[in-house]
Amino acid sequence: MYFVADLAHPDTDRAARAFDALVMPALTAASRRALDNVLHGGARCPGVARRARCHECETAVRDLALDAFDRLREALDEPGRGRLASVAVHARSAAARDERVADAAELLAAPRSPRHPAWVRCARQQFVALPVRHLEGAVRRRRAVAEGRPARPERDLRTAGWAGELRGDPVDLELLVFDTQRALRGRSDAVEPPADLCRRLGVEPGDAAARVRAMRARLRAVNPGFYHACHRAPSLSMDALRADELPARNADPYTRADRTRAREVVARMLESDERDWLVAIVEAWDGRDVKGFLVGLGRRRVLRLLRLVEAAGLDWVGRRVGE
Ligand SMILES: [Zn+2]
Repeated sequence: MYFVADLAHPDTDRAARAFDALVMPALTAASRRALDNVLHGGARCPGVARRARCHECETAVRDLALDAFDRLREALDEPGRGRLASVAVHARSAAARDERVADAAELLAAPRSPRHPAWVRCARQQFVALPVRHLEGAVRRRRAVAEGRPARPERDLRTAGWAGELRGDPVDLELLVFDTQRALRGRSDAVEPPADLCRRLGVEPGDAAARVRAMRARLRAVNPGFYHACHRAPSLSMDALRADELPARNADPYTRADRTRAREVVARMLESDERDWLVAIVEAWDGRDVKGFLVGLGRRRVLRLLRLVEAAGLDWVGRRVGE
């Protein structure tokens, strides 16, 4: 059994185990939605065997915990200072010696309450809420790098030396930044920028599409590797997917809880720009043309979307998409 005072134990291993017991339950629960979004295309993590999360999800949560533990150890070296002051001071207090970590972990995983001790509120904010808020973006960037795509294309285009000659016209640059980010989201088939962006930049929509095409051509000439990494060529045949992977239309291996959860995810996606993906999945399922951007999403992601639509019910999603 660990006590809160163990967080400040001179034996780092013991301190680390106490810290895990304190934060892992809250961190795992709080990061679930972000990780489902970024690693599982919005569907529920399938987990591994009887364990709750797959290896990728678990690694992401563990990285957050390790990082938080390092910050706590630094704060303990300078008690009374910095954002973690109240946690560090409490861990060294006499009261912490017989306060069980398991009890504190329960508070940490419970909804936020002004009745919780100040050090618990501070720990939740610093070890759970803030890291989770940035988790989706961080995992996305790490994946992009692992898959050979630029993690921050907007920064490259705005600041990298090689992109200098693309920055002659500020409106063209904005159009290129938007178009490149859109391509990385799997929409390299689209050329028209959205109306609100055109309005903001003060360009006519027809003119804007022509400028996007011209900027793409310039980007491809200036840095072909970067261009192709963003506008990756289709790598997936929807016909092959249909033949291998699509379950029969009337197969229904999902529980009611799966269905409810999947429908919640679909409802959220319908409110975002991921709506296009759902439309394309439903059309592909119906044997209509497969949109190029769907193919560009990559096989794994498309499979996750298929599972999600299947769990939510194809007919149900089809009706919602048509609304
Ligand atoms: Zn997972």
